[in-house]
Amino acid sequence: MSKIKITTLGTVSPYLKGDKNCPGFLLEYHDKKILLDCGNGSTRHLSFPNDLKNLHVIITHYHKDHFGDIGVVQYASYVYHNLGLLDEKIKIFLPKKDFKFNKKAIVYNEESYSNYFDIDENTTLNIDDLEISFEDNGSHTIESYMVKLQNKEFKIVYTSDIGTTNFNQLVEFCKNSNLIICESSFLKRHNSSSTTHMRAYDAGILAKSAGAERLLLTHFWPEEEKELYLEEAKQNFQNVEVAEEGKQLILGGI
Ligand SMILES: [Zn+2]
Ligand SMILES: [Zn+2]
Repeated sequence: MSKIKITTLGTVSPYLKGDKNCPGFLLEYHDKKILLDCGNGSTRHLSFPNDLKNLHVIITHYHKDHFGDIGVVQYASYVYHNLGLLDEKIKIFLPKKDFKFNKKAIVYNEESYSNYFDIDENTTLNIDDLEISFEDNGSHTIESYMVKLQNKEFKIVYTSDIGTTNFNQLVEFCKNSNLIICESSFLKRHNSSSTTHMRAYDAGILAKSAGAERLLLTHFWPEEEKELYLEEAKQNFQNVEVAEEGKQLILGGI
């Protein structure tokens, strides 16, 4: 039986505050590690140099709240390699199409012990028996990839930043997930006219429509009480929790 351990590294946007960091999750599967986004401050919860070993970093899009700490990871890999404590390069997966030279800045960083790989709609990444696929439904302000991780035992979707247009495509991607990690930037009372981010209310509808087992909300306003997001999502879906820095959850085998 395979299990996957998910540690929340960061939950707020667009800036960090107190002990809350910008978005990031560390997934541990067998002896492999997957970093889903790498927002500002999220590296505070990584364990160096151990978490650099067998590390796959996935950046979903070129908004700074999702990759602000990539330079920290890169520089740590460079330093620990030079100290003789890291003998295999970390792997960094980035959206193929650059946005405002952000990709270039990452890939051209010479003080990094890393290899780079492109992400697009056709990318499938296999880590042991875990299959990772990507899709952009075009609803965020820039190209942004949802990430699906599945094996025979479980299916997890991380929406990253996503809007409310093309909702059916989003539901289809999340269909029958054991866990959806969904952004919920807004509450209903914000009265936002934005269609390029979700409300907690929408995240609840998504989980219900997709027939998901469990919903984990993230990507909150730094000043808002997380409890409010929970209450709002619960209007549509009961098995929901809010992501908290340092908290872990485990899916799959015992
Ligand atoms: Zn974004
Ligand atoms: Zn964001």
